[in-house]
Amino acid sequence: MISKVLIANRGEIALRVIRACRELGIRSVAVHSTADSYAMHVRMADEAVCIGPPPAGRSYLSIPSIVSACSITGADAVHPGYGFLSENAEFAQVLEEHGIKFIGPSSEHIRLMGDKVAAKEYMKRQGVPCVPGSNGPVPSAERAMAVAAKIGYPVIVKAAAGGGGRGMKHVGASEDMEFAFQSARREARAAFGNDEVYIEKFLETPRHIEIQVFGDGCGKAVFLGERDCSLQRRHQKLLEEAPAPGITEEQRAGIGEISANAAASIRYSGAGTIEYLFADGEFNFIEMNTRLQVEHPVTEAIFGVDLVREQILVASGMPMSFKQEDMRIRGHAIEARINAERLPNFDPCPGLVSTYHAPGGLGVRMDSAIYSGYAVPPHYDSLIGKLVVHGLDRQTAIARMRRALGELIVDGLDTTAPLFEQVLQEQDFADGNYDIHWLENWLKKQQA
Ligand code: ADP
Repeated sequence: MISKVLIANRGEIALRVIRACRELGIRSVAVHSTADSYAMHVRMADEAVCIGPPPAGRSYLSIPSIVSACSITGADAVHPGYGFLSENAEFAQVLEEHGIKFIGPSSEHIRLMGDKVAAKEYMKRQGVPCVPGSNGPVPSAERAMAVAAKIGYPVIVKAAAGGGGRGMKHVGASEDMEFAFQSARREARAAFGNDEVYIEKFLETPRHIEIQVFGDGCGKAVFLGERDCSLQRRHQKLLEEAPAPGITEEQRAGIGEISANAAASIRYSGAGTIEYLFADGEFNFIEMNTRLQVEHPVTEAIFGVDLVREQILVASGMPMSFKQEDMRIRGHAIEARINAERLPNFDPCPGLVSTYHAPGGLGVRMDSAIYSGYAVPPHYDSLIGKLVVHGLDRQTAIARMRRALGELIVDGLDTTAPLFEQVLQEQDFADGNYDIHWLENWLKKQQA
């Protein structure tokens, strides 16, 4: 069994991991930059090590600093959280070479799924339905035009190494291809140091629905239903729910089984998410994330499982504590991402939190690392909390979220909370009638 976990992250996800460790009787180590000396994860962990100055490149992304922190503290495992080094195959490999357990899949699996072209080829071979597009990378704008002529416009040019919605270009007609192709390449080279791109059919009004899978690393994998993450702005998720409105038990079981089998066939270990665009009753694979997702608590709520605990158990070489047949959905859960951002333009809004009060009561979970008197530093992601509610059905969950948002107090900063208070009043939301463009269209209407 793992005895001491170093958490290579900060904020609410660091707390999330510390909590799971504590319940398992495992010691925890926080790492932090000098900007985070007063952060809650530093206070809450059993030990803390400063690993560098504020820029993430010199602290939270510094592999040598994190490996040194492991050897100083005797940590025998690292949980990467999400973001930062969580999908960095080199990091997982360096830890493996140092005899430190990476709590996540093997570096080989991270590498495979991190290359979206290779991932798609692999999934296709496993019988996973994929968005129609190029077979492999596309080397030139001419080739891109030939592919687009075959699958039909509009198409989307995407970076093979893509992530965070960067390096994606929509192309409506052939005359726009040359420019879009070159700019997608440039953006990909700048963001990922890899300018390989591929083409997909642009789906006009899909929903983003993803399947949570979990593998034991020995060839067994289960699926834990789906999450609807269609409420996005600039390809960034803002609100997620589980189960997805309107998905039938049959559809869920169908795509769930395909997804779990794809994970099982590579002997995938730990938590993973297989993302699909859902259109015209069909699921179309876009990518697999080889880590814990920000939105994992909605799945935990409806299945009553602790995914981080399971990650730690499986990384310790123990069996998963649940079987597919035990996985029954109970009720409905919604997560709202509370970002320190100023509406209506979502400008980052770091600064001092003068008063913080978390909502509570039945079915309310607030995962946050802020406190009254805490200064949100300007160097990192703007997520300061995740408000998650669970109710016996979707209507109850919506009412509960509205009630909980009303209780949340974050004085001193602007946050995205007021946005959800409005969105949750919309008839379209109540009806589950939204796709990946709904929020941006709604925001435009508000500003008109
Ligand atoms: P990233 O890894 O950068 O997040 P994804 O491939 O997961 O990129 O796509 C992010 C989002 O971009 C999706 O949730 C969806 O909103 C949009 N998107 C991606 N591919 C397509 C497509 N083929 N058609 C329409 N929208 C797409």
